[in-house]
Amino acid sequence: DHATGAGWKLEHTYAELPTSLFTEIEPTPVSAPRSVVLNAALAEALGLDPAALAGDEGAAIFAGNALPPDARPLAQAYAGHQFGHLVELGDGRAILLGEQRTPAGALRDIQLKGSGPTPYSRRGDGRAALGPMLREYVISEAMHALGIPTTRSLAVVTTGEEIWREAGAIPGAVLTRVAASHLRVGTFVLAAARRDEAALRALVDYTVERHFPEIAEQADEAERPLALLAAVIARQAKLVAQWMSVGFVHGVMNTDNMALSGETIDYGPCAFLDAYDPATVFSSIDRRGRYAFGNQPGIAAWNLSRFAETLLPLIDAGDEQVAVERATAVLHGFADQYDAQWLALHNRKLGLFGAEAEDAALHRDMLAWMQAGKADFTRTFAELDPAVELAAGGDPARAAWHQRWRARLARQAESAEASAALRAASNPTVIPRNHLVEAALTAASESGDLGPFDELCRAVTQPFARGAEVPTKYREPAPAEAGPYVTF
Ligand code: AMP
Ligand code: MG
Ligand code: MG
Repeated sequence: DHATGAGWKLEHTYAELPTSLFTEIEPTPVSAPRSVVLNAALAEALGLDPAALAGDEGAAIFAGNALPPDARPLAQAYAGHQFGHLVELGDGRAILLGEQRTPAGALRDIQLKGSGPTPYSRRGDGRAALGPMLREYVISEAMHALGIPTTRSLAVVTTGEEIWREAGAIPGAVLTRVAASHLRVGTFVLAAARRDEAALRALVDYTVERHFPEIAEQADEAERPLALLAAVIARQAKLVAQWMSVGFVHGVMNTDNMALSGETIDYGPCAFLDAYDPATVFSSIDRRGRYAFGNQPGIAAWNLSRFAETLLPLIDAGDEQVAVERATAVLHGFADQYDAQWLALHNRKLGLFGAEAEDAALHRDMLAWMQAGKADFTRTFAELDPAVELAAGGDPARAAWHQRWRARLARQAESAEASAALRAASNPTVIPRNHLVEAALTAASESGDLGPFDELCRAVTQPFARGAEVPTKYREPAPAEAGPYVTF
């Protein structure tokens, strides 16, 4: 049995939660599974044998046509604030096969996305298209290589079936997503909306055990909900600061798309900035810019407030006013933690050690001239050099800023080499450029040509490569004629 030999070690801790939080359901088989991409390094980290997963046997599993031994497939229930409005949701096109126990002892959700309808599908077909699944694959793997917590992508297979979208008939696909868990703010929101305190308590204990075991050791049982809130806030403050430091726009920060583990999740309309502008929105449906680049820290805080609300009955069952005051005090910590994380990351980007009172102003003023000059976010940081004046175009704001930066560098004890090394390790040269992602997905879905996609994956998983290692096209912004980028 090849499936057994592949190294599956599935556990089912989520299935022990109250049954209102999931529905057991199997994937719907497809007509002709075919492997498109397999992440061999990730398979190995999971204790899976890439060779045993590469052929037809693997494709059958990744398509949902065959189940790994001991799989216990289920769809998770959750709710979410979609653009601010509360909706009951759930995995409408995803199925959790179980949680893989890795050789390192970690537990990782193995989820098929695009695996057919579930009771939560409502009007959807439960399917996914090849282009968007390849998009999630390449961008999530790029985020991982950038050192940003994220769900991972193990495999993409085509189904041999066409699905119908606005664009017409397009090839169907299934992505295998690997996550620390799929617990979301929205999981708690569902239990709270149903006033199901037993489910909420079970979720607190489960989330603590799975992601914050230190809380179980340190905090009294009664203090756990507040300690969990604080821990989730700390992870989100760091995560969103990391997004901001590489120009990542998530695009759909609904509360169902915020993972309690602190991983980036749901690669739908996300994209990276070309020119720096905090008002940047890529998603075609985000007409009011709710999820614009510069709004992301504020939206994270809003989502965390919704999370805090779900915990109120557990924070102080007897006195709601006290519960609100305690939760609010913890929520107020988000802004300071976010600012501290952002400042630390941007100091690294400028090669600054330690901290000076004026550092925040230095960053703000840099972003101001970048915005005014429509400077490419990634390239501007990657090419910063104290020995090279930025005033090539005669921009006095840039020139003055450059002098201040040099003076700040001169005041620190660390060597110029150490500062340059810090910058090189903190400023990627290669991000998934929108126009290159689009070209790779078009070649794959319209001509079945995976060459550009494979090459792109190789480039974006070495984001800090420098010099001749990086083909010029991966360093350059979109050509002017590419026009504004729109995601769906
Ligand atoms: P998202 O905006 O990607 O977070 O998705 C919101 C909800 O829509 C989730 O509950 C998805 O499972 C569901 N959904 C998205 N696409 C489909 C589809 N093709 N069929 C069924 N449900 C879907
Ligand atoms: Mg989602
Ligand atoms: Mg999505």
